[in-house]
Amino acid sequence: MSDEQYFPKGDLLKGKRGLVMGVANKNSIAWAISQQLAAQGAELCFSYIDAMEKRVRPLAEELGVEFLVPCDVASDASMDEAFAEIQKKWGKIDFLVHSIAFSDKDELKGSFVENTSRANFAQSMDISVFSFVDAAKRASAMMDAGGAMITLTYLGAERVIPSYNVMGVAKAALESATRYIARDLGPKGIRVNAISAGAIKTLSLGGISGGRSLLGEGRKWAPMREDTNPAGVAGAALYLLSDLGRSCTGEVLHVDAGFHIVGMPDPDAFDD
Ligand code: NAD
Repeated sequence: MSDEQYFPKGDLLKGKRGLVMGVANKNSIAWAISQQLAAQGAELCFSYIDAMEKRVRPLAEELGVEFLVPCDVASDASMDEAFAEIQKKWGKIDFLVHSIAFSDKDELKGSFVENTSRANFAQSMDISVFSFVDAAKRASAMMDAGGAMITLTYLGAERVIPSYNVMGVAKAALESATRYIARDLGPKGIRVNAISAGAIKTLSLGGISGGRSLLGEGRKWAPMREDTNPAGVAGAALYLLSDLGRSCTGEVLHVDAGFHIVGMPDPDAFDD
């Protein structure tokens, strides 16, 4: 299969509305997910941070998304305003995409134990983990007829990855939070899952020291010997957010060309 990004059209999300948090530019994983959800008939709302507005508006326009709300997840007031606007305009939603993370890039290098400050530990957990708990609480209040939610995680939650440091700890907490949220919202008919994506070239990856080597080395380790295609992550999102994914909740679904299953790569993968 070619690595061309392909988003099949259909009606799997026809009549469904959802909030996508985390489109920053055309490389964002949330952008690939949005293209797939829209191709299946979903009506979307994008939330964005002010600094990204100039990049996000043209993308929204490209997809026919007219509903945009500014939202800084680190601010209660901003979250209050964003969700009040969605409540006012839509009243109910069917799904939530949480594709947000942040950490001080000065701490995404070298020694985890030496470089992690109290302030950035708290900030990373707040923006990358608590924001999902908070958004899930607010979104579920608009999901009386059931719904689905996803967040984006990375293998650094389960294994030690160079430079990933405090983000790995945050992703471990995010995956655990996914299970607790799934337990709490399951009785309301709301499914909550995480996608563990392989390395993809985005702004976030650029913030990790040596982030590009996660791509280059990853390609050698992965059974498929290729980068993770954002369209594959978008396909997993479609599965989890549509009725295709019914009965699946509390799961961490790996979409990483198989990288996570390898204990030791084939020596011939490193022959040039
Ligand atoms: P990205 O930089 O395009 O997306 C990160 C988003 O977080 C941006 O839209 C940014 O505006 C948003 N954000 C940061 N601080 C915020 C705040 N205070 N309030 C609201 N939004 C805020 O990069 P991405 O790689 O698409 O990242 C999306 C998610 O995917 C992240 O959770 C990331 O950890 C995860 N992920 C990325 C990779 C990868 O290799 N790129 C792999 C696995 C998981």
